[in-house]
Amino acid sequence: MTLTIRQFACLSDNYGFVIRDEASGLTACIDTPDADAVMAELAAAGWGLDFIFNTHWHPDHAGGNAQIKAATGATIVGPAEVTRIAPLDRTVAGGDVVELGQTRFDVLDTGGHTLGHIAYVDRVGGAAFVGDTLFALGCGRLFEGTPLQMWTSLQRLAALPDDTRVYCAHEYTAANARFALSVDADPAVAARAQAVFAARARGKATVPTTIGQEKATNPFLRAPRIGASPGRTDDQAFAAIRAAKDVFAG
Ligand code: ZN
Ligand code: FE
Repeated sequence: MTLTIRQFACLSDNYGFVIRDEASGLTACIDTPDADAVMAELAAAGWGLDFIFNTHWHPDHAGGNAQIKAATGATIVGPAEVTRIAPLDRTVAGGDVVELGQTRFDVLDTGGHTLGHIAYVDRVGGAAFVGDTLFALGCGRLFEGTPLQMWTSLQRLAALPDDTRVYCAHEYTAANARFALSVDADPAVAARAQAVFAARARGKATVPTTIGQEKATNPFLRAPRIGASPGRTDDQAFAAIRAAKDVFAG
């Protein structure tokens, strides 16, 4: 069944998403970066709001929960860690299924950026809402988890079909591209970086991306190749690339 997805920019570099299952008319927002912006997008679409799906507890993802719940009565679904800043109506974890009318979302454990981070994947429609786990040409910082946990989470996403559209929660792609160019001489990375710089110069979003595009050019998914050294495991190669990005000034 068809899922309509409306993406909008908010705060300094966040993307918000409001979605509608066309079979049932049920709607949801993915995270609540900015309550006023979410409400404005719903008004522009002419939609009410039935659900809030949170990916993790950070304020630029769950900070608008209370205001939006008060305005719409939406049911809040998310990982247990969200209760650090706001109550949940339904707690979910990796392996669970969340239904929005006829659209089924598999909940994937994508811990690492935060310990309890999750993603929502519509396998039939080929769409993944990944919060701050996987970015276009990048990945989330490891605020709470270990490199092995994040690497495992990224592999879970990389296992999705190549044509899966990846809805990342931030427009970080130009900065990510500058880092990618510094660690990976692959021509595909250079070509993509140029396309990203051109898109951003025109004010165009680089989200959504796809799993196939990220597997081909994202330095974190390519870590076993570009961060390889004798005796290093894949997650250690990933850790080395992540550490280099954390201090990259370019
Ligand atoms: Zn975050
Ligand atoms: Fe964020």
